[in-house]
Amino acid sequence: MTAVSASRQILTQLHEVMASRLAAQAKLDRVVEIIGETLDSEVCSIYLLRDGMLELFATRGLNKEAVHVTRLGIGEGLNGTIADNVETLNLAEARAHPDFIFNPETGEEKFHSFAGVPIVRRESAIGTVCVQHVEPRRYDDLEIEALQTVAMVLAELIDNAGLVDEEMAGGAKPRTEPDVMPGLTLVKGLAMGAAVMHKPRIEIEHTVAEDVEAERQRVYLAFDKMREQIDQMTSQAEFGVGGAHEEVLETYKMFAYDEGWSRRINQAIDSGLTAEAAIERVQQRTRMRMREIDDPLLADRMHDLEDLANRLLRIVSGQMGTAATKGLREDSILIARNLGPAELLEYDKRRLKGVVLEEGSLTAHVVIVARAMGVPVLGQVRNAGSLINEGDLLLIDADAATLTARPQQSSVDAFETRFAKSKERQAAYAALREVEPFTRCGQRIEVMINAGLREDIPNLSLAGADGIGLFRTEFQFLVSATMPSRERQLRLYRDVLDGAGNKPVIFRTVDIGGDKALPYLRNENAMKDENPAMGWRALRLALDRDGLMKIQARALIEAAAGKELNVMFPMVSEPWEFDEAKAIFDAQLAYLKKHKKRLPEAVRYGAMLEVPALAEQLDILAPKLSFLSIGTNDLTQFLFAADRANPDLAARYDWLSPAILRFLQRVMDKTKSTNLDVGVCGEMGGRRLEALALMGLGIHRLSITPAAVGPIKELIRKVDLGQISAAMSGWLANPPANMRETLSAWAAEQGIDLD
Ligand code: PEP
Ligand code: MG
Repeated sequence: MTAVSASRQILTQLHEVMASRLAAQAKLDRVVEIIGETLDSEVCSIYLLRDGMLELFATRGLNKEAVHVTRLGIGEGLNGTIADNVETLNLAEARAHPDFIFNPETGEEKFHSFAGVPIVRRESAIGTVCVQHVEPRRYDDLEIEALQTVAMVLAELIDNAGLVDEEMAGGAKPRTEPDVMPGLTLVKGLAMGAAVMHKPRIEIEHTVAEDVEAERQRVYLAFDKMREQIDQMTSQAEFGVGGAHEEVLETYKMFAYDEGWSRRINQAIDSGLTAEAAIERVQQRTRMRMREIDDPLLADRMHDLEDLANRLLRIVSGQMGTAATKGLREDSILIARNLGPAELLEYDKRRLKGVVLEEGSLTAHVVIVARAMGVPVLGQVRNAGSLINEGDLLLIDADAATLTARPQQSSVDAFETRFAKSKERQAAYAALREVEPFTRCGQRIEVMINAGLREDIPNLSLAGADGIGLFRTEFQFLVSATMPSRERQLRLYRDVLDGAGNKPVIFRTVDIGGDKALPYLRNENAMKDENPAMGWRALRLALDRDGLMKIQARALIEAAAGKELNVMFPMVSEPWEFDEAKAIFDAQLAYLKKHKKRLPEAVRYGAMLEVPALAEQLDILAPKLSFLSIGTNDLTQFLFAADRANPDLAARYDWLSPAILRFLQRVMDKTKSTNLDVGVCGEMGGRRLEALALMGLGIHRLSITPAAVGPIKELIRKVDLGQISAAMSGWLANPPANMRETLSAWAAEQGIDLD
């Protein structure tokens, strides 16, 4: 029997039961018999939520006396675990599972194997359905799929019969008390507004098809319409063509036209489901598979696919109204479990003040889009959807990573004061836009920005920076579903150079590999990396696979025709790596010259100092460099052997530690005689106290996040380099117990305000 025919056989019978005039309990009793017979299982049981407990409602094979007697807490026993995690369990030996508990009244001791799936309504489990066998064996995909399909239909039956707790099934009373919820800062900023539920999910009312052909036709038409919408969106993306969104939408297009996806939905319709249920069923299965693959990049693609599946559901069910189509009122804050980038683009950006996501990660496409829209985003706010009511007043403090729902007036007042202050500050910084940052003693400090996407270019003039000190070219690769072609790379680099006008741009060659894995660049070496930050990444990968670098070199050289090209190599550990990388560029230059192409006016090569080993060979490398940029993000993680992405270590090591500052001091001493242009492009340079220390070490070029340009320029104008250098030398010769406090106190004495 195939999965389709097993499901279909069950569904046909379930349909009859649902349409019958039997009482709810009798219907459930019939359902367990039907499943048990079709799957040839000795036991089939249904547990439903009542008074916050899972109660055995119907069984075939266990003691009937246990019905309405056996009760489990959420998270208790196997069924409690399924409901808690909203996840399927498939076990050859039930008692080997750590959460197994034995309920003697059921008489289940003779059964070994166990498979159970959650019955889901409004995204939470309202019950479970499970099968058991005497013989220890794992259930095959066919059986699990049939069970999952049945669970969908049961959800409808149970909902219609009102068999479970209303409250547990999503009908909770509105909350009125203030609530402060922690989250993860995805896009910084403050926002105040009324909660608007994005609600992209559609409640599926009917799961069993009356007419399979009609359902097939509905899905067919919905696919057509969805493809039309995506094509249209691609041609009128809000930020013009060519942005990161273009690449995001390309991913969408790829999914929208994916034959495999539509085929799987059609198969689910064949098994007897309605169009809506079939789409959801396929989505559930994909979600389950994705959960087994622990890959953040794939997870982001999964969000894109969820976005599309929800769009398809809305089209097929005619429930087109997301909050976006209804239109936002003034000052809205959007709440969503997760949001696709295309969904976010549908909102009126003048009215949308902030976004709260229950999930969300820093690398998600939606975050890139939100940053370009200038909307603060707070992610990983657990249960935001159930703790917040539509229309609640919300305060997002994405800087402090908190969300306040239904705040007291005093919190609103405090927030408004901060908001006004931050606006005032922004205005003061904006006034510095055209001011060149000279120190009190007359030294010009270069303040540049870090960028990586086309949308970042306007920040250069908005912030009033001297140039782009780090253009992370790998971003284009990361947001793209397929390897960006030479033409696409060239277009981006040309736009960046055009946008920068006569200000310099330092292009860093791709820093991919390791944790920045690309789905289209799979390689055994990368898969083997147990410690990706120290693995096969950046220049290491680029030199081993020089095809990629050749293409990039050509794109950069052609884009900079007639202009100055600044190229920087990441993760250089030894001088020969720099030589090899430069040779690739030189070969491309020679080729283009031979073919009479217009070349850049000048090509300057630089290296990043991120690997401590390079510091020991700087005397060898320095004469070959036009500039050196210290990447303190990676450098400090390697110096301290502390993963920069591990939140548990975030507070453990300080950028102002004498270890780091002394290291940088040695680098500056070694390069002093070579006249090498040394800058810093790590996050450290964008923080005022740290920037003060860096200036004290003789660093005169900082490349920082655009939002920090104003505050850093303000700082520079208050600094006397002679004084801070003298103080730094003293402290580094004889470090104080707490460098941060010492430097802070010193700055305060000098009248340098660092708040
Ligand atoms: C760094 O490591 O400091 C740096 C600027 O590069 P990235 O953050 O892109 O690794
Ligand atoms: Mg780095």
